[in-house]
Amino acid sequence: MKIQLNKAHYPVTALGPGKRIGIWTQGCSIRCPGCVSLDTWEADRSKAMAIDDLIAWCKRVAGGAAEGITISGGEPFDQPKALAKLLDGLHRWRNTLTRPFDILCYSGYRLEKLQKEHAALLAKLDAIICDPFVEALPTVRWWRGSDNQRLIVLSELGQARFGRYVDAAIDEPKRFQVVADGKRVWFVGIPQRGDLDRIESACAERGVELAATSWRA
Ligand code: SF4
Repeated sequence: MKIQLNKAHYPVTALGPGKRIGIWTQGCSIRCPGCVSLDTWEADRSKAMAIDDLIAWCKRVAGGAAEGITISGGEPFDQPKALAKLLDGLHRWRNTLTRPFDILCYSGYRLEKLQKEHAALLAKLDAIICDPFVEALPTVRWWRGSDNQRLIVLSELGQARFGRYVDAAIDEPKRFQVVADGKRVWFVGIPQRGDLDRIESACAERGVELAATSWRA
């Protein structure tokens, strides 16, 4: 089985605690106004990757060192069968490790809808950050794009890793990673309003013009 993938990266330190593998799916039908990841919206079969190959890549880049895996998008729950297969593979890998990684997933769907339609998927996660992004709301809580979004702990491991962050405001400088992969410069983390325009200006000052950005149509 394949999953439509926008990108994957290791290490990610700006979307969950510790050193993590980041997996971004391709395709989002929710389309929140103000979304900064417009490049993930269109489903795209040309970006499909075999799930076994994706898990093999995770093992290769991180070995047993990853403290967590963050699955974001796009909208991961728009590919429920592929997400289930991916999570099953990650669980099989985790069961072989002495130090287990946690699995955090983002979704723009409301928790109540996920509980009704995807309870089996929620049972495979340690934590979820859910609800649509609301541009008008500030973002002061850990790893959330807007403060209406809920961090829900879903397992004992999730409680150990995420429990203290559920309602806490960020109390350290925010992490924001910028990655260049030869073709694209992309960011990992939750930007503050205006951060991306500031990055674009900083690039321009250094002679780098961005041909297209994910935060403007
Ligand atoms: S914020 Fe997330 S859920 Fe909302 S449109 Fe963007 S990718 Fe989709």
